[in-house]
Amino acid sequence: MNKHPIYEKDKCYISLKYGIKYPNTSFFIKRGLANKPHRGVDFGVLDKYKGTPIFLVAPVSGTVVFAGFHTQFGNMVVIRCIENGFEYLHMLCHMKKISSEVVYNKRINAGTIIGVMGMTGTATGIHLHYQVEILTDGDWQSHPWVLGCWQWVDPKNWLI
Ligand SMILES: [Zn+2]
Repeated sequence: MNKHPIYEKDKCYISLKYGIKYPNTSFFIKRGLANKPHRGVDFGVLDKYKGTPIFLVAPVSGTVVFAGFHTQFGNMVVIRCIENGFEYLHMLCHMKKISSEVVYNKRINAGTIIGVMGMTGTATGIHLHYQVEILTDGDWQSHPWVLGCWQWVDPKNWLI
């Protein structure tokens, strides 16, 4: 059973949708992102909850294939899982803190607290960048921390 990646999702709102193009401003030009599509969905914190910790959970049960710092994504947890015969990566990015429950190469269950929302890496404010990718045999992007070619997909199926 899938879980929303935010423990108390009512404290947050979608601040940048999947597929929206990054604006053509110097911040994004410098990072090579201007006019490129947003590969995940961003959640910001509602004003009245700003300053309180927003806990993040494993949205699926799977294996932790990355838990650490990434230049762009900051403190990031990546969970690899199989659903309906397809393999997916679930990436939770820009975290302030990663929970000690999250251990590389270990199984984790959906709903387990994995840390606290933050703004580490390339971020202008506290938010969660949640990205889902599917394993393909095509010529899509690869990652240095996991084998295979992965294509980003709309995370909406995991946000219910
Ligand atoms: Zn984002």
